[in-house]
Amino acid sequence: MMRQYELVDRVRKYNPQTDEDLLNRAYVFAMRAHGAQKRASGDPYFTHPLEVAAILTEMKLDDATIVAAVLHDTIEDTGATRAEIDSLFGAEIGSLVDGLTKLKKLDLVSKRAAQAENFRKLLLAIAEDVRVLLVKLADRLHNMRTLHYVSPEKRARIAEETLEIYAPLAGRMGMQSLRDELENLSFKYLMPEAFAMVSTRLEDLRDKNKELIATIEDELTEELARRGIQAHVSGRQKQPYSVWSKMERKSVAFEQLSDIFGFRVVVNDVDEVYRVIGVVHTKWPMVPNRFKDYISTPKQNDYRSVHTTVVGPGRQRVELQVRTHEMHDIARNGIAAHALYKDRRNAPAPVLSHESNAYQWLKRTIDLLADGDSPEEFLEHTRLELFHDQVFCFTPKGRLIALPRGATPIDFGYAVHTSVGNSAVGVKINGRLAPLLAPLANGDEVEIIRAEGQTPPAAWESIAITGKARAAIRRASRDAVRAQYAGLGRQIVLRAFERAGKKFSEDKLRAALPRLARASIEDVLAAVGRGEMFSGDVVKSVYPDFKEDRKPAPANPADPGWFGMQKASGVQFKVPGATNNVHALPIRGLRGDLPVTFAPNGGAVPGDRIVGIMTPGEGIIVYPIQSPALAAFDDQPERWLDVRWDIEDAQELFPAKIIVAAINEPGSLGAVASLIGELGANIDDVKFNKKSPDFREMILEIQVFDLKHLTDVQSRLRALPIVNSVERVIG
Ligand code: MN
Repeated sequence: MMRQYELVDRVRKYNPQTDEDLLNRAYVFAMRAHGAQKRASGDPYFTHPLEVAAILTEMKLDDATIVAAVLHDTIEDTGATRAEIDSLFGAEIGSLVDGLTKLKKLDLVSKRAAQAENFRKLLLAIAEDVRVLLVKLADRLHNMRTLHYVSPEKRARIAEETLEIYAPLAGRMGMQSLRDELENLSFKYLMPEAFAMVSTRLEDLRDKNKELIATIEDELTEELARRGIQAHVSGRQKQPYSVWSKMERKSVAFEQLSDIFGFRVVVNDVDEVYRVIGVVHTKWPMVPNRFKDYISTPKQNDYRSVHTTVVGPGRQRVELQVRTHEMHDIARNGIAAHALYKDRRNAPAPVLSHESNAYQWLKRTIDLLADGDSPEEFLEHTRLELFHDQVFCFTPKGRLIALPRGATPIDFGYAVHTSVGNSAVGVKINGRLAPLLAPLANGDEVEIIRAEGQTPPAAWESIAITGKARAAIRRASRDAVRAQYAGLGRQIVLRAFERAGKKFSEDKLRAALPRLARASIEDVLAAVGRGEMFSGDVVKSVYPDFKEDRKPAPANPADPGWFGMQKASGVQFKVPGATNNVHALPIRGLRGDLPVTFAPNGGAVPGDRIVGIMTPGEGIIVYPIQSPALAAFDDQPERWLDVRWDIEDAQELFPAKIIVAAINEPGSLGAVASLIGELGANIDDVKFNKKSPDFREMILEIQVFDLKHLTDVQSRLRALPIVNSVERVIG
């Protein structure tokens, strides 16, 4: 295991100003946090974060990144918390470790189809800080290096994911050496035979050409030295995976590949690069169409070099890459690492500020990736337009859920599973209780609190923004309403059987279903509950010789069974007509002194969206926007006035009309009337309609403070067991 002083030494070598105390504290903190945890290899777990940090010291990264690497698994795998890390190491490191904790949850997402999704999430994460991604890539590299210890299934999954996501990403960021190693390791685990074949042949080739390579290296170095150019020349062989993918791509055999060898010439400055090219082209004939100047036109990942191919000693084709030390560093470690390094040299206290090179680079890379005009292979199948209008959240188990931006925990619940949405009663976002209506943010961990036997409130339908949630809520409330009707119907039917002196049994009713033309008992009960079927007919279907001796109740309001309850309820009925107070209506947007009245039939209450209609001889008549009467003015736009309520705290009462359908039995009106009274609403007038032998309709003219009050009254009435339906009437 790397010792504490070794880590500090490695960093100090490239960064003399390193905060040794910080590194030491991180080392000890992570060592203690991971304690006796072991890796699959049997090594202490702590060796892993240390190796990750070591990989990053090779890229010469700043203290914050190194410390974040040492701490990167502490929040997820040990008892450490974000707050603890913030207070011990500062918020900058805290947020890096937090970003890594979020990315770690990606590892649990294993479905192949979800990879493009993951990748976008990854982009979102790096958008916050490129260093998170650098640590993540180093983390993946160390895990790949030690992959032989894990189970074959896990090995295959991780290798595949590395090849599809992480290696191309490293390449896209210009980190060639990291990319090569990730690819070769994946290749080795996924296709062991092919890997062995390619590697063996590359080795044979290297042995065979050893002398030739040494000759070219020497000749070239000498030739350049003679011209006063100090160059580092090294022969290099293509990597096994890149050889393999070229064989695959071009369907060629190993022997047919001509460019397995290349030479790299590293010099001090750009001037020397072109002088090297001059020397090489003078000494050996150049192969046409192989000259590429990536210095004057850098690649998108900021790769810079000049490439050429010549016919060298022994008529051997020789490929050359010529570059400066700085270009070489960028080609190996990527511009991000390089820029971070440069930032640090320019500023004693490095932070990823908005002016820094690394930040600018990052922003440009994300723009490029998001534009989707990049021909790079791994972007081809990702629909990046989703990137801007989506949010990505995690379940507590780390499943990644993609939702449209603006989605609420309600949408999240339904996205996880319909039953989760239906039973949602609360939510914890990132461990804290939050409202179910709060819009979700990227990276939120969302835990739905559930209670079985819940029905989603119908109002959720307008809050949810995903189609899946809306459809499910509609279905659930339809089912709930149906269940309510069936419950009501059951009461009615049981009483009807009781009155008839007959025994109710579901079996007998089931046998009678064809006679009632219904498919199920539930259907029958719901039909009775809705008033579509008379309970006496249900009794008759089971006992065909049963004679109904009860006369249907009279529709007369004077029927003591109904109106008799009025006194008992103790509710005072106000005199109708006192409400149309012409001049005092608190409505804004009216013209001049025209008299203002409410439309007859129901009126409007504060909270209703309203419009005024100019009516000759009568002034302005105010209608709720949903009033069907407004259709009559559709072709006269000049009469419409935009008006709104000018009212803060409703003290006044406003008229509204509702129709309540309730079971036809003594006490119904009393129950309805006293509930309305309890809720602080007045009843102005009551009329009765006969709906069916089982039901009566009460048409109530009431007075309420506002729409919320009215809605309360309606929903409380609906909750009465005797009540079948409550509708507002707007004329
Ligand atoms: Mn790790």
